[in-house]
Amino acid sequence: NKQILLAKRPVGTPDQDTFKFVETDIKQPENGEVLVRTIYVSVDPYMRGRMIDAPSYVAPYELNDVLGGGTIGEVVESNSNQFAQGDIVLGQYGWQTYYTAKEDEIRTIDKDIAPISTHLGILGMTGLTAYFGLLDIGKPKEGETVVISGAAGAVGSVVGQIAKIKGARVVGIAGTDEKNRYLKEELGFDEAINYNTTNNIEEDIAKASPNGVDVYFDNVGGEISDAVHANLNKYARISICGAISKYNIEGEDIGPRIQMTLIKKSASMQGFTLYDYADRFPEGSEALAQWLQEGKLKYEETIKEGFDNIPDAFLDLFEGNNIGKLLVKVDNQ
Ligand code: NDP
Repeated sequence: NKQILLAKRPVGTPDQDTFKFVETDIKQPENGEVLVRTIYVSVDPYMRGRMIDAPSYVAPYELNDVLGGGTIGEVVESNSNQFAQGDIVLGQYGWQTYYTAKEDEIRTIDKDIAPISTHLGILGMTGLTAYFGLLDIGKPKEGETVVISGAAGAVGSVVGQIAKIKGARVVGIAGTDEKNRYLKEELGFDEAINYNTTNNIEEDIAKASPNGVDVYFDNVGGEISDAVHANLNKYARISICGAISKYNIEGEDIGPRIQMTLIKKSASMQGFTLYDYADRFPEGSEALAQWLQEGKLKYEETIKEGFDNIPDAFLDLFEGNNIGKLLVKVDNQ
């Protein structure tokens, strides 16, 4: 059994020294346990936060522990009457080729709706984040303008499509022209801005949003968000989902203060974590599955092959090397 452990707490951008590969024995499942072969591993920006030893909404990783996170796997041996060999299950056992799971810590997934990998993306954590963060905090109304940063990623690409379903004008901000073409041509975004090539992002947002910005779904923070804030309408809502542009900085982020903008615009800003909505996951999952089946939602996955490439895939998130959900397919058949 191969595992990837947290070898060192990163300062700044993680590198290969952050990770340690080890081989361990497979633990046979005891009563109420199953042995699972990992098929897909999710790599997610929030994992960067867990590498620091600081209190947050999820506990930090311990040094020399397996890097935990979402996985899809197949039950290869079962000592539980709730699971049979061959069941496809979702677990949080992270970066390892096999794991022994307690029956109450995994759940079977529906293989019939869409490929199993979607349960780590559009039908899983990132899809639900988009659903609740947009609809509960952003509350877009028909005809309003919704701006999304990190727009071509796993969460952002779903936010934009849900905003279109709700009848909004949708403006995405992403890092490459290829991503922006995808947003407009494939996903139906009205406008898309490349923050890496623009000369004046604030002006570009104003041009793309002739009626101003009513909802800002923020995945990245920093200067991109400052530029969106300058274009807010009265009663605008800001849904703070993430701040990936700041996850690897050393020290505190310093920027313009936003209080006066919020006052002048009677605007509101709310952070959230997906787990605030844990009791409503069935509602979100049903809506996402239905829209997917009706063809109202599309999705993209960037899938890297090979267990050994998991750390590289994780680092790709900070380089923008993904469109849609970034996953690793594990080669342990
Ligand atoms: P993505 O699929 O969006 O991948 C990350 C993307 O972020 C990259 O592709 C890159 O795209 C962009 N990015 C990376 N560095 C920067 C930078 N310095 N400035 C601007 N953009 C950057 O990841 P997810 O969809 O999984 O997550 C998106 C955000 O949502 C993250 O901030 C994450 O932490 C947050 N999140 C929050 C949750 C919650 O419960 N609150 C749950 C899940 C995710 P590009 O080419 O455009 O730069």
